[in-house]
Amino acid sequence: MDDAEYAKLLDRAFSKKPSLSEGASDFVIPPVDALVQGNKTIVKNIAAIADKARRPPDELARYMSRVLAVPVSVEEQRLTINSRFSAQDLDKIVKRYFDTYVMCKECGKPDTKLESSGRGMFTLVCEACGAHYKVKSY
Ligand SMILES: [Zn+2]
Repeated sequence: MDDAEYAKLLDRAFSKKPSLSEGASDFVIPPVDALVQGNKTIVKNIAAIADKARRPPDELARYMSRVLAVPVSVEEQRLTINSRFSAQDLDKIVKRYFDTYVMCKECGKPDTKLESSGRGMFTLVCEACGAHYKVKSY
């Protein structure tokens, strides 16, 4: 085997190597399961989404209410939004919530918690890497 061939083999071996994921990449946010009823939108899986975020459903609901600027309520694991929204719109908001308030910006893992730190700020504390930093509250 000449050097060029050997290099090619090495190349192939390295490209086959699985990426060094540490579990963050298989983290999937559950898609919003929403249906419009009259002038309201019902999110049927708010509990599952909040569970994935490790936040109380009420917290997630409060965020969505702020962003959408409409009242919402959580009852029996369902979120009712007092206006009509598509599941795609709600997915975007949920994703933004995860990006800002769940996923650690240092290590990218979702093992975080939020602590109120007053003056309209939260402190996001990452239990995976120990990072903590301030984020704007909602
Ligand atoms: Zn982290």
